Amino acid sequence: MFDLQIDDFKSTDENKAMVLLVDDQAMIGEAVRRSLAQEVNIDFHFCADPREAVTQAVRIKPTVILQDLIMPGLDGLTLVREYRNHPNTHDIPIIVLSTKEDAVIKRAAFAAGANDYLVKLPDTIELVARIRYHSRSYLTLLQRDEAYRALRVSQQQLLDTNLVLQRLMNSDGLTGLSNRRHFDEYLELEWRRAIRDQSQLSLLMIDVDYFKSYNDNFGHLEGDEALRRVAEAIRGTSTRSSDLPARYGGEEFALVLPNTSPGGARLVAEKLRQTIAGLGITHNAPEPGSPLTVSIGLATLTPTQGSNSRLLISAADKGLYQAKNNGRNQVGVAG
Ligand code: GH3
Ligand code: MG
Ligand code: MG
Repeated sequence: MFDLQIDDFKSTDENKAMVLLVDDQAMIGEAVRRSLAQEVNIDFHFCADPREAVTQAVRIKPTVILQDLIMPGLDGLTLVREYRNHPNTHDIPIIVLSTKEDAVIKRAAFAAGANDYLVKLPDTIELVARIRYHSRSYLTLLQRDEAYRALRVSQQQLLDTNLVLQRLMNSDGLTGLSNRRHFDEYLELEWRRAIRDQSQLSLLMIDVDYFKSYNDNFGHLEGDEALRRVAEAIRGTSTRSSDLPARYGGEEFALVLPNTSPGGARLVAEKLRQTIAGLGITHNAPEPGSPLTVSIGLATLTPTQGSNSRLLISAADKGLYQAKNNGRNQVGVAG
């Protein structure tokens, strides 16, 4: 006849109990072994030497420990505390086996960290039921911890990915500086901060001189390379963490300088102009062999409530127009 049990159809891992009995009496070990012998999915290990118990538990990884309380040389409660203190056995359910029903011993056992209390020798049906119950809740705990761990890992990965995406979204592909979108956002933010703090906000607009001619003469790829080198120089010039170098568009760059006076901004602009002229990028304009240069427009404002950050851009643009008009390779300040 068919004698299949429901358990046979369930996933084995989910229901597999691994029992470790720690008892100095071999007779008890043999009796419990016999009780469990017919049970599906219960593996049984016996340890007769209490000094070996923790080592065995770490090695066997039981899902339930049956722990005798009275053993020569080592107190069962001490062992219960040792399981609880060891990271590998910390959460394993412990059923203590006592020789008698005694409230004082029982209280001490639970206080030490036991999960259950049975009097030797327990009835097979009760022993099996409790082993299965504790084993299942332990496996559920492990699964939950694993799920949480996996969740934390994927949350961290998501955060990392978002950071990378954010950086990509904010940066210009050719130069790696902030792009126009991020520049607009940042300027707006600093503009509002300057209104609140009534602080000076400076802006440099930087435009490469005769760049159309550079492209026409040396080719677009050489032009790209020159833009990258100019961008590096601008990045190197901005020293404070609040300074924001950006590619405004084409061969125009911008440098936002929060909390910076006209004098301070002027120093930065002049240093930047000299640095770029000193890069040694050979141009063909205004004369063959001239170095590549930039013109810089500078503006500083202490914005008033209700004003728009476009004011600062158009003021810096005026400065740039002056610099171009006055012969390029110079800093123009809007009056
Ligand atoms: P000015 O001294 O008055 O600024 O003259 P300019 O030639 O620099 O100004 P114009 O605005 O006439 O030309 C800008 C040139 O910049 C035109 C365009 O081909 C070039 N340019 C814009 N973006 C890029 C780019 O990403 N790569 C390259 N290689 N060239 C670019
Ligand atoms: Mg231009
Ligand atoms: Mg130009």
